[in-house]
Amino acid sequence: MNREIDIIIIGAGASGLMVASRVKNKNIMLIDTNDKIAAKILISGGGKCNVTNEVVEPSHYLGNPYFVSEVFKRFDQHDLLQWIAKRGLKPKVRTRGQYFCTKSSQELVDIFKKETKNHTILLNTKAQNVSKRDEFFYLQCDNKKSYKAKSVVVASGGLSFPILGASDIGLKIAESFGHTIRKTAPALVGFTVQKEQFFFKSLSGISMDVEIKVGDKICDGALLFAHKGISGPVVLDASLYWEKGKIEIDFLPNWSLKEHLDSKKLISSLFPIPKRVCKALLEHLEIKDRPLYQLNQNERSKLETLKNYQFAPAGNFGYSKAEVTKGGVSTDEIDSKTMMSKKADGLYFIGEVVDVTGQLGGYNFQWAFSSAYVCSQAL
Ligand SMILES: Cc1cc2nc3c(=O)[nH]c(=O)nc-3n(C[C@H](O)[C@H](O)[C@H](O)COP(=O)(O)OP(=O)(O)OC[C@H]3O[C@@H](n4cnc5c(N)ncnc54)[C@H](O)[C@@H]3O)c2cc1C
Repeated sequence: MNREIDIIIIGAGASGLMVASRVKNKNIMLIDTNDKIAAKILISGGGKCNVTNEVVEPSHYLGNPYFVSEVFKRFDQHDLLQWIAKRGLKPKVRTRGQYFCTKSSQELVDIFKKETKNHTILLNTKAQNVSKRDEFFYLQCDNKKSYKAKSVVVASGGLSFPILGASDIGLKIAESFGHTIRKTAPALVGFTVQKEQFFFKSLSGISMDVEIKVGDKICDGALLFAHKGISGPVVLDASLYWEKGKIEIDFLPNWSLKEHLDSKKLISSLFPIPKRVCKALLEHLEIKDRPLYQLNQNERSKLETLKNYQFAPAGNFGYSKAEVTKGGVSTDEIDSKTMMSKKADGLYFIGEVVDVTGQLGGYNFQWAFSSAYVCSQAL
């Protein structure tokens, strides 16, 4: 049996909930495979959800900068903070301009619960296929039911964290309507290492500030040595830009070896990095820990490589650990003023399923909310 609805929203995550919150006078049905709404919001930002950032620009995103700026022109971080504040939540800035919920992510989820209370929310239900006949869309679900609607909003997110309901349904729907899919890959994720860097694993649990260069992008922040390789905010950001090949780490950012060549201190006492890391790096370079002034030219040159240590990661930790998915539905075939497909009237793509991916720092929720807001204005 087909049940007629105005708008079906596939995905009750960040973007789907924002659309549903904004459209009041229509018959809306939200569908999610999870047993609750907003699964990612709840666990994000260490349970406090990094909602957005003080500074949000197209340069913080992978994707077409013109498309991104067109969307933010209509709803940016200030609009988002105002929208949330009107509903009683005033996120606080912590480090690097990042806004977090004051107590917990639940505060934001409660706003969405309240705003969507008059809509139908179908949980534990998996969307399987969307087709279009005579101006109507038909959605098939795993509950063996079919739903008919005038519009469908695909807000099903990326492929990351399948444990929280992620699936490729958005990409499949896009493909079935003739959309181009930009190559997808895990992003905001740690790197696995090759044999030569296996010594990193012995430093598991240690964190230090570094700079990482990937192509012409420079990322800075904390690197965390992990059992599988390297992780931490700076590595996650670097993963956004890495495809394959070498990356370059500056283990001594804002520190110059040349200024300390006469030092009588042991290298491991002199270098402003954790002693265990320093010793492991020295061992890797086959240099004995002793005062800098005793080193010969060859050894000094080797030490200099710690300012631009190059290696090729083996890969990354994969979708099960990646915070986001880069790539997705090409923005060439979506209208930036409405988020509507240029291939099928009434079909919309928003949030992470679209080929726009932000750096760490609240940029991905901002994108999810902004693209959703723009879509809601068109519905
Ligand atoms: C651990 C973690 C922490 C994060 N922390 C932050 C952060 O602090 N700040 C930030 O900006 N970003 C963060 N992100 C990224 C952010 O969560 C996402 O970019 C954002 O949620 C994307 O919103 P969305 O609406 O596109 O997709 P989602 O929020 O992922 O919602 C998509 C929904 O669609 C549902 N779905 C998928 N397939 C189907 C199907 N076939 N049928 C029915 N339902 C389906 C899913 O269950 C899901 O609920 C984090 C991500 C992770 C994994």
